Amino acid sequence: RGLKMYFPVTAGVLRRKVGDVKALDDISFDIYEGETLGLVGESGCGKSTCGRVILRLYDPTAGSIRIDGVDIGAADAQTLRPLRPAMQMVFQDPQASLNPRMTVAGIIGEPLDEHTQMSKAEKLDRIYELMDAVGLNRNFANRYPHEFSGGQRQRIGIARALALNPKFIVCDEPIAALDVSIQAQVVNLLEDLQDRLGLTYLFISHDLSMVRHIADRVAVMYLGRIAELAPRDALYDRPMHPYTQALLSAVPEPDPEIETARKRIILTGDVPSPANPPKGCNFCTRCPRVMDICQSVKPALREIEPGRFVACHLYETTAAAGSTGAPEDH
Ligand code: SF4
Ligand code: MG
Repeated sequence: RGLKMYFPVTAGVLRRKVGDVKALDDISFDIYEGETLGLVGESGCGKSTCGRVILRLYDPTAGSIRIDGVDIGAADAQTLRPLRPAMQMVFQDPQASLNPRMTVAGIIGEPLDEHTQMSKAEKLDRIYELMDAVGLNRNFANRYPHEFSGGQRQRIGIARALALNPKFIVCDEPIAALDVSIQAQVVNLLEDLQDRLGLTYLFISHDLSMVRHIADRVAVMYLGRIAELAPRDALYDRPMHPYTQALLSAVPEPDPEIETARKRIILTGDVPSPANPPKGCNFCTRCPRVMDICQSVKPALREIEPGRFVACHLYETTAAAGSTGAPEDH
């Protein structure tokens, strides 16, 4: 609720603070147990920062983060430590996130060393179990990351994330660095693990087709804020925020009849700097439907239909007529 993540911008030899990059500028949303919430947006929109802040890899500038009712938004390292096992991360680049000097068994076993008192034998059993779960051959436990393919390395990363029986996993572009032929295998594995282990995912991606496949609900971010959040089919079949409409119009449509009937929306202009976002709606410099009010008033994220949240002045009257129920009000 009300999450803000500002990174200071400094200048000169004295590194005097001259402003803030507003990577997250007051965002609020829920992730329901057992679901996959897709988080999409162009690079630099703040989606990775969002995943990291939720896991408290960064200290948020403001806001609360509740996991099972416990607010970890301002918790110190000591309070966080016992909560860490429940929330894990799968990183984008398995090559960069695995220590090249450690064996697979060492990498997967590391969280067990940190958070459990397992004996050597118990640990090895657990490592084998995890290797089985992600489809890695046990005989490779003593090999090093460079001996594996990209897809297999991501399986190692997933096994490590699973070691402590997490409930919630942030998947930050987990397939972006993989060959297209391997991407579906890793996504299928993630889905299979979710079903078997009852996991909850925040699935961060710029691949809108993949998110449509895996997510139950989807949040669209633009310049540090959430533009729209809706159930998957509602969002893809009938996007309402002008930014979502533009983003989705660029995704190739497999059905040729729909493809020809559809209009591409070409956005002009660059994404403004998050150090100096527009005053009103942060999309007003590029929005094809911009109005006067958009230049000065920030639209709040409102629930304009059950389960669908949109931050846009075009829908304000609808919102005023119905119940708001925006996440901020809960
Ligand atoms: Fe466009 Fe205005 Fe809606 Fe922002 S609030 S998305 S500028 S119409
Ligand atoms: Mg699912």
